[in-house]
Amino acid sequence: MASFNLEIITAEQTIFSGQVSSLTAPATDGEIGVLPRHASILTLLKPGELKYSTPETQQHLAVSGGFLEVNADKVVILVDSAERLEDIDEDRAQLAIQRAKDRLSEKSTDLDLERALGSLRRASARLDLVRKRRHRGPGVPQA
Ligand code: ATP
Repeated sequence: MASFNLEIITAEQTIFSGQVSSLTAPATDGEIGVLPRHASILTLLKPGELKYSTPETQQHLAVSGGFLEVNADKVVILVDSAERLEDIDEDRAQLAIQRAKDRLSEKSTDLDLERALGSLRRASARLDLVRKRRHRGPGVPQA
């Protein structure tokens, strides 16, 4: 099966490095799909779901903002954070959402709006992924 090299990197670690057959990622202007021999691009990512397929499996991750580069059948995804579905702590994400909402509703003059919104978006992406993918019963087809 045709494949291309994918690297998913955060400031702390390489989350994944290997051959994949397809991926979809949350670009700022909508979901982007990449297949082998995709044209070269550089695009910004927003918090959301990153999905890639290898011959053996399909992986789902929640990613924060960052960027994606396709160049000569190699894709590099550089993001602030990325968690595999199975590593997401649902309670932590729920608490982060509540904290961010509380901060936003306090209307304090000390409010760091970008920080609160960033936290809200990251945590929402984590929770959305868990709700969409983890709480499904057996036998339900995955999109
Ligand atoms: P929190 O307020 O809960 O720390 P945050 O949005 O501030 O959330 P980040 O700065 O985006 O957290 O991430 C810090 C580190 O914690 C990263 O390594 C990220 O992968 C991890 N992380 C954050 N939230 C979760 C979660 N709900 N489940 C698993 N890992 C998480």
